[in-house]
Amino acid sequence: MSTLHSKYIIIGAGLSGLTSANQLQARGIQDFKILESRTHIGGRIYTKEGIDLGATWFQNHHTYMLTVLEQLKLKSFSQFSAGKSILVYNSMAPAHYFESDQNSPAAQRIANGSEALIQALASGAQDKITLNTRVTKITENEDKIHIQTEKTAYTCDKLIVTIPPKLVKNIVFDSELPESLTQVLGKTHTWMSNAIKVGLTFKRPFWREQGLSGTVISQISEVTELYDHSNASENEFRLMGFVNEGLRDLTASDRQERILKYLEKYLGPEIRSYIHYEEKDWAADPNTSNDHLNSVYMSPSYGNPVFQKLYMHGKLVFSGTETATISGGYMDGAIHSGLQAVALLNAK
Ligand SMILES: Cc1cc2nc3c(=O)[nH]c(=O)nc-3n(C[C@H](O)[C@H](O)[C@H](O)COP(=O)(O)OP(=O)(O)OC[C@H]3O[C@@H](n4cnc5c(N)ncnc54)[C@H](O)[C@@H]3O)c2cc1C
Repeated sequence: MSTLHSKYIIIGAGLSGLTSANQLQARGIQDFKILESRTHIGGRIYTKEGIDLGATWFQNHHTYMLTVLEQLKLKSFSQFSAGKSILVYNSMAPAHYFESDQNSPAAQRIANGSEALIQALASGAQDKITLNTRVTKITENEDKIHIQTEKTAYTCDKLIVTIPPKLVKNIVFDSELPESLTQVLGKTHTWMSNAIKVGLTFKRPFWREQGLSGTVISQISEVTELYDHSNASENEFRLMGFVNEGLRDLTASDRQERILKYLEKYLGPEIRSYIHYEEKDWAADPNTSNDHLNSVYMSPSYGNPVFQKLYMHGKLVFSGTETATISGGYMDGAIHSGLQAVALLNAK
């Protein structure tokens, strides 16, 4: 088996890994590779058939995100929320209607889906990304780090590991990592790894035509949150939301029927006229999740000080949104961590 050498290797082609790649290039460094286990880039940013099955929204205080979108000249737009929204708080009671204040700042979405950010970040580094390549072993050997994948061996001078902290245990480290680090890695919840998303595409925005915003909120129902997910140009009409985890173990067809029946009750029979239906259970995806926790709705504590240090004699840094001291868990945090990883390695 041949060994390929690069000055820098980044494990993971999600938002943090691609931000680091972009940052290396901004510093004039081209001698790097990105190794990605999935067959596509983006990690927890995944847009399929126009539906953001992973990350969708950012807010005005996500300044790293705003800066990157501006640098990459990507457009954003406000989450649609005009009209009556529905709150289902009791299965016996009739729906409760409410309206969002159209003057207060709404969550923002990226035009052409969140994957537009990923594609733009990766555009100058496509030839450096190797997909379908799972890293299984990392060894320190004098001044180099050896990386074993299922197919090929690599060496590098400096390594950025961006995979979710809990998945680091899937990689064998030959030289032992400090106990303080391994404990934190094992305990850091992977943000949104328990989420199930659903999205539906329609010919017409039938809910808007009824004066509804498309927002349907309920912790007690099959879909806990649903939102209008039409595109920025308003010529593709979609609804997208989060599925109740109680439906996880049903068959796909039983789950779909429960979801449609519930939405039919509040949005009417036209919900069944969808032209496309998509679902993704992130807990079933081994590239994001291993031992999933149910129902983690509060943002856990991220950015532990162990992630602000270098390992393997200054050659290894752990990155990724869960390591970020700012906006941990969010896309904004992933960008922050990607920038910080390159700064910590003092990449030249
Ligand atoms: C359903 C869902 C909804 C979300 N909604 C929002 C939202 O609205 N707003 C927001 O700001 N954030 C949201 N997030 C969070 C956001 O997606 C993340 O903050 C961000 O995408 C994390 O990027 P990352 O690069 O740190 O990690 P990841 O995207 O997880 O990237 C890590 C990469 O490492 C790869 N990998 C794993 N193991 C290996 C291995 N052994 N070898 C090689 N590669 C490996 C993975 O395939 C992956 O591509 C959401 C996430 C999900 C899942």
